[in-house]
Amino acid sequence: MPAAVEKDPDAGSSGGLKDCAVVTIGTELLLGQIVDTNACYLAEALSEAGLRIRLRIAVGDEIGDIVDALRVALDRCALVITTGGLGPTLDDLTREAVAAVAGVPLEFREPLMADIQAIFKRYGYHMAENNRRQAFVPQGAEAVRNPVGTAPGFICRIGEKAIACLPGVPRELKVLFPRTVLPWIRRFFRLPEQVLCYRTLKTVGIGESQVDQSIGDLIKPGGDPEIGLLASEGEIKIRIAVRAGDREGALQRIAPVEEEIRARLGRRIFGSDEETLESVIAALLASRGLSLSILESFTSGTAACLVSRVDDFPLGEAQVIRSKTSLMAWDQCHEQNPGDDRTSRSRPWEEADLRRFAAAFLSRSSADVALMILGCPERDAEGWQVDAHAIVADRTDLLKAFSWHMGGTCATLRSRGAVTGLNTLRLALLERTDPAAR
Ligand code: ATP
Repeated sequence: MPAAVEKDPDAGSSGGLKDCAVVTIGTELLLGQIVDTNACYLAEALSEAGLRIRLRIAVGDEIGDIVDALRVALDRCALVITTGGLGPTLDDLTREAVAAVAGVPLEFREPLMADIQAIFKRYGYHMAENNRRQAFVPQGAEAVRNPVGTAPGFICRIGEKAIACLPGVPRELKVLFPRTVLPWIRRFFRLPEQVLCYRTLKTVGIGESQVDQSIGDLIKPGGDPEIGLLASEGEIKIRIAVRAGDREGALQRIAPVEEEIRARLGRRIFGSDEETLESVIAALLASRGLSLSILESFTSGTAACLVSRVDDFPLGEAQVIRSKTSLMAWDQCHEQNPGDDRTSRSRPWEEADLRRFAAAFLSRSSADVALMILGCPERDAEGWQVDAHAIVADRTDLLKAFSWHMGGTCATLRSRGAVTGLNTLRLALLERTDPAAR
């Protein structure tokens, strides 16, 4: 059992080993009553600092389980960070578990007690006797004082390794970790002062496997630059991460990688970093002095909701017509040819129909450009299917029409339909030449 506990954080270092583990403690985590945001926060902050997270464990308020988790984590990693279990009650057992793993008793710290009393006084609460428990730390551990809560943390050196224990309350963790623990970790691992810079390129209208086919040879986990993919509904993010002595140096190293990825994926990349598909479209419309109206059927206004999130989006009308029958009734040309009803409803839409719908919509709208996202989902044994159409037109022409088939839940059809429709609009705007030049 390792027992040596040193106070000087610079007295020992794990050398090149930069592996760490995050152990989050609390039965609520296991029961799914709270989401483990502490683990995500720490994982991100530690990897940004240049450490490798090898293990994440969530464990309940059982002393035996906490001790086991700490031993496994300590066996594999030079540093273990825990959150939770530092409160005053008998099921707050992190202090006891770490002391058991280190093979040392707990010791009372008067300055910590004074901090806790001061916090109670400041908040005007009576301090219960059991809060004294929070002023105990494993013998020899370095205290992490907590100016924003009653649970102090501590860092306990165990031979060449260490366990850092922090409170479970996320707000307190986010104060204590960067202020006290991260600088300690930098010294412990002898990390050089570095900045980590990211550039995120965002694609739409292409699947993860296609992105992988195009740039797979550049993706090297753990590399520097490190390129990774993150897929979310309708959008794939390509993240380029680079470390350097300063931000300028990092950005210089990102530039050629970004250029290479852009050359391979072209217009499939719609934007970068904080840009969204909607904000990019807003900028395209604004730079061309155009306004937009949207007509949707199966997407039920999802595209209109998305663009409305952008302040000052030049949106004229937004209309939802759910069923094909209602659309037919609305279609001016059809109104003039009521005998066409049966044919129109049963046959698939052709380009002539799409042109007619767009012209009809624009004739009732004040906008320069119309986006229509149309389709009538049908249910079969597998779920919902739709033959979908995205149509973009201006007052002189049909600019772009894209038809595709997709299946899934109604929610998936709505969100994918809206994104595909908006992407069709983006491409149409990029390709649109000045009407006078046509
Ligand atoms: P305190 O003395 O303030 O209670 P503590 O270290 O004992 O501090 P816990 O009692 O384990 O912390 O957790 C306090 C609260 O913090 C929980 O009720 C929960 O709301 C939140 N919390 C705990 N752990 C996590 C976690 N891993 N992710 C997100 N929230 C958490």
